[in-house]
Amino acid sequence: MQYYSTSEKSPDATLSQAIVHCVAPDGGLYMPRTWPVVPKAFFNNIDQLSLLDIAYVVANQLLGDDVDGAVLKTIVADSMNFRIPLVRLSDNIFALELFHGPTLSFKDVGTRFLARLYRHLASSSSGRHINVLVATTGNSGSAIASAFKGLEGVDVFILYPRGRLSRMQEAQFATIGENTHPIEVRGSIDDCNRLVDTALLDSELNAMFHLTSANSLNLGRVLPQIVYFFEACARLKAAGIEPSETDFAMPCGNLSNVTAAAMARRMGAPIGSIIGACTPGIFADMAGDGVSGPPLGPTGSSPANMPRLLALYGGDADALRREVHAEVFTTQAQEDAVREVYSALGYVAEPRSASAVSALLRRSRPGRHGVALINTHPAKALDRMTAITGRAIELPLQFTRFMARTVVKDKIDPTLPALRKILLRHNQQ
Ligand SMILES: *Cc1c(COP(=O)(O)O)cnc(C)c1O
Repeated sequence: MQYYSTSEKSPDATLSQAIVHCVAPDGGLYMPRTWPVVPKAFFNNIDQLSLLDIAYVVANQLLGDDVDGAVLKTIVADSMNFRIPLVRLSDNIFALELFHGPTLSFKDVGTRFLARLYRHLASSSSGRHINVLVATTGNSGSAIASAFKGLEGVDVFILYPRGRLSRMQEAQFATIGENTHPIEVRGSIDDCNRLVDTALLDSELNAMFHLTSANSLNLGRVLPQIVYFFEACARLKAAGIEPSETDFAMPCGNLSNVTAAAMARRMGAPIGSIIGACTPGIFADMAGDGVSGPPLGPTGSSPANMPRLLALYGGDADALRREVHAEVFTTQAQEDAVREVYSALGYVAEPRSASAVSALLRRSRPGRHGVALINTHPAKALDRMTAITGRAIELPLQFTRFMARTVVKDKIDPTLPALRKILLRHNQQ
């Protein structure tokens, strides 16, 4: 398979180049040249297949030309070694719980797959040392630290804004050590993102340190997320429900799940509408029912996967709107959604995932079913959840273990020289 850049100013890349370099030299994101379509017969008995069977079929369609089947099987088995249950909340509403992995968010699925694909691609090519940079407000940092921990030939630098994370969020990635290096940045998440983007496109820094990223800019993080849409189809079919009469709602930020859902459709997953529960901003204005109002916080920046999502519809926003809809939730509306979902369905979901369920309730029509993606365990948003519900959320065991350990971190201003110094220190040993 060849991979093109969404900016269309760089030559096509191989799988290995697309994954290892993450961002194309022209600043675009990599996309497969063609979309393989899963054979129709696959759906005849999909309800009898396991998550791993389904994951292997999807992964093999996408990556089978470039990665040996036996290797791919191992990567799939090692990265999706936890449950992704489809929980029935009412006659027509289901929750696809994506938070049963080691760091309790959907990001475990893509990140664990990426780390293992990475190890395979790197060991079969140059074997050179690689430095992974990521900017995070919590969930991607912990998923990446957990997935890349101890991986030979890779160091991981996790940049996060000072004062934005709870002690517990920080502890989840800043107490791991080994090849994972937390960096607290005196600035906002936008400053962190800018610093990572600048570093990734800086040719001198790249020549020295072979930089890459492991967030959803990396295609290898997004492709595995296609799997759970097929998995949901299987479990719906087992419950006697037509996936094509089922809409899929999901929280969104950088649109990795909305994009993966659209990719799943291109590969033949017979799913209904894709509903993005989002905050006001660029995606809401494009796919919502009107202008959504001022974006929350200082960011007016475009979601990272927007170029991929648009590319799936040939750059045609009208075509996109026929399949993808935005439902807008302010911070206040997210909190209302937590209470609404609990009182209507007896289900405890964190604010962004609750918004996805609430989006289904808003749009519910007779005869139509809905699946909401539950992105993280409610305890991941512990402070907000306690404030909203006035009740204690039970802490999963993973969390209490992290809290007992010591945080070790660097602290820097958001400048390239400051980051360079830290990279240098960890690459000299
Ligand atoms: C990472 C994250 C998101 C953003 O997801 P995308 O699929 O990239 O839009 C949304 N909600 C939660 C809870 C997350 O951790």
